[in-house]
Parts: sequence; C-alpha cells; structure tokens
Amino acid sequence: MESQIKEFMDLVKKRNPHEPEFLQAIEEVAETVVPFILSNEIYNGKQILTRMVEPERVLMFRVPWIDDAGKIIVNRGFRIEMNSAIGPYKGGLRFHPTVNLSILKFLAFEQVFKNALTTLPMGGAKGGSDFDPKGKSDVEIMRFCQSFMSELFRHIGPNTDVPAGDIGVGGREIGYLFGMYKKLRNEFTGVLTGKGMSWGGSLIRPEATGYGTVYFAQNMLETKGEVIKGKTIAISGSGNVAQYACEKALQLGAKVVTLSDSSGFIYDKEGFDTDKLAFIFDLKNNKRGRINEYVKKYPNASFFAGEKPWGIKCEIAMPCATQNEVNKEDAKTLLKNGCYVICEGANMPSTPEAVHIFLNAKILYAPGKASNAGGVATSGLEMSQNSLRIVWTRDEVDSKLKKIMSDIHNSCIKFGKQDDGYIDYVKGANIAGFVKVADAMLAQGVV
Ligand code: GLU
Repeated sequence: MESQIKEFMDLVKKRNPHEPEFLQAIEEVAETVVPFILSNEIYNGKQILTRMVEPERVLMFRVPWIDDAGKIIVNRGFRIEMNSAIGPYKGGLRFHPTVNLSILKFLAFEQVFKNALTTLPMGGAKGGSDFDPKGKSDVEIMRFCQSFMSELFRHIGPNTDVPAGDIGVGGREIGYLFGMYKKLRNEFTGVLTGKGMSWGGSLIRPEATGYGTVYFAQNMLETKGEVIKGKTIAISGSGNVAQYACEKALQLGAKVVTLSDSSGFIYDKEGFDTDKLAFIFDLKNNKRGRINEYVKKYPNASFFAGEKPWGIKCEIAMPCATQNEVNKEDAKTLLKNGCYVICEGANMPSTPEAVHIFLNAKILYAPGKASNAGGVATSGLEMSQNSLRIVWTRDEVDSKLKKIMSDIHNSCIKFGKQDDGYIDYVKGANIAGFVKVADAMLAQGVV
C-alpha cells in the first residue's frame, strides 16, 4: 500500500515540481483514497486520481492597472478550472501577495472534494492574483478588479465557471468584478456569488463559512454527547470566516478568547461579547484596521505581536486564517493544554505533521474541506436562487446550511468511522468527496 502511494506521489511530484502546497494537498488525499481505490474494483485501474490531479484548464494572465500616483503596476491573474464532472467550476478568488500557481492549485484541488461534499452540483476551481489589497485606496481596488475581469470574463459564466470571494476578496471586490462582467457581456446573470442583496445575493452568504464551521463543531461534539455551550474557543484570523465563527459561537453560549491577523493575536481572557465583536467588525470591515487596535479600546486584553494563538488554553481551536498556520509544535501545545476539538475554518491550515498528531491522539479533528464547506454550499444556494429568480428568507437559507453541514458530517462518519468507533474525518471527507466525483467521471468517459 505504502509503495503504491509513493509511486503515485513520485509521478505527481515529477509533473509538479516547485509546487509544495499542491503536493501537500494531494498527498493528504492519496493517503486515504489510494487504499480505497485499490480495494474497490470499479475504481481500480481507471487512473481516476491521476486524472483528478491534472487541472482541466489553467488560465494565467496579465493584470495591468494604474495606481493613484499614476504608476503602472503589473500583477498576475489566475483561474484554475480543476474539475467539472459534477457541475460548473466553482470556487473563490484570492487576492494576496503570496498567491501563486501552487497555492491556487492546492485550493482548487481541495475545492473539488469540498464542493462534492456539499451535496450540491458544483465542480471545483480557484483563482486570484498576487495583488495586495492592503493599503490600497477604494479606487485602486476598483481599477484592479476591472482589469482582472477584463480578461477573466471570457472564461466564466453562470453555467461554466462561477467565482466568489476568498482571502482579500469580499463584498466590495465582488461588486466591482460583477459590474465589469455585466458591462462586458451585457448580461445580468449569477456569474459570481457573494453578491450584494439588492443585486442577486443570498442572505446568510457572508456569514455562511463561519457559521457552518461552528455548526460542524457542534455536530462533532454531539458524537460525544457534548455541546458547544460553555466551551472556551481559540480562533485565529479576523476576516470574514473568523468574524462569523466568533459571532455564531457567542450566540451558542461559547467563550471565544482569541482572534489574530498577520501581525499577531489578541487574547481577551474575559471572552468577546456582542459589543466587542461589533467593534471588531467595524475595525476590520469599515476601517480596514489592524487587530492590535482592539487592546487600545479594551485594555484588559493583550496583544501578542508576531505570535499565533495556539498557546492559549482552550477546548476548541478554530484555525480561520490561512494554510499551514498550525504546525507540529502548535499541535503538541494545543493537545498539552487540553484542546480536543480542532475545526478548520481556513483551507488546509494544519501541516501534515500537525494532522497526524491530531489523528494519532484520536481527538475530534475536522479538515477544512468538510468543516468550512458551508461558504461554498451557500454560494450554491445563491446560484439556485438566481436561477429561480427568487430570494429565500434568512431562516430558509440558515436551515438549509445547517442541514448541509449535518449531511457532510454524516458522509464523514459513513466513510471515516473506524473499527474502534473513532471518526477519522480526513478519511471520511476524502473518500466521500472522491466517490461522488469519481462516479461522475466514470459515467462520462475519458474526457
Ligand atoms: N473561497 C471559499 C472556499 O474556500 C468559497 C468559495 C465559493 O463560495 O465559491 O470555499
């Protein structure tokens, strides 16, 4: 078995040198899916995984724009159309200086499995740019988005490829991107998700990734007869996912004590409340400020420059910032401090070493492709509403989101429950996602 995984990985490494994040995401899947393929006649020998790791299409393009000082800047734009076996390509756009081919290919690959888990008909994609939105004026953001879309528009469409947000792309950016698409195509369609409410958006979409992550944590706790109420939670990040994970956790009676950004983390030992959270929403979303400003307003809290929150004692950790933010040492520290639930709001936030530590310790560990799928699932619900030209109520969308998260949890149990009763959510999510996509690929022939 080990040798077959190695053989497969050697091939993938040879074809994708210098793409460490992409290889990491593939290896995590191969470890559980290769043994499954070998023991299932219908998948064995069909090169399904080899086909899945090869994007159907990779787009790279120049994005030139002019800054407020009149200087011409050139960024690079990407769209990785990974797999369309079960629906149109679907996945977010990330604007961040670290964006490169490896990172977007890992995200697109994860998206294929995640989208399959949602039960909705969406293929997998990811895109973005190495553009850094930090410190840019509103008009600079608009000019960049318009230039980006002036190329992307010819490759996407409501039945072809439906982008959305990710790090650095929120409601404002989706607005500018949508405006340019509509102008160029002369068409008002559901080509992007995460739209504003008055122009085709869905209620709960902004909240969905964070809320969904908390719903998933609740589902995990239920398997042990426990509830989230009263638990202490460490959250990293302070963007869209972290903010709404915090909001939902508070609503359900948990105590959230940390949030972070790239400069460090804040620790409020009394826990956040609705007023404090309102301050954070305003700071991050309107003022676009840094998280350390929190301690000026609330001096009882502390700011730890350049550090991550994983040394803080908690029962539940929710990494909601970015990839590989929880390493081996962090994993050991979390366990030592009594943390026994890790529910990922970000994509691939734990390194492979950290994941193995969690699984060996048999704690409740949910990989992002399962636990953060609520965001893209609600994008799927936005697409449905656009097609039907109706708007569902907040309660309707929220209850569909809850149901989807619980269905994902059940899929993880179906394929991930071990003989001793332990639920390996990594195995469960990978195999459940694989089966759905592989069955569609087999039915559609070698294309
Ligand atoms: N970027 C989000 C994710 O990682 C959402 C994608 C979408 O809504 O299409 O799943």
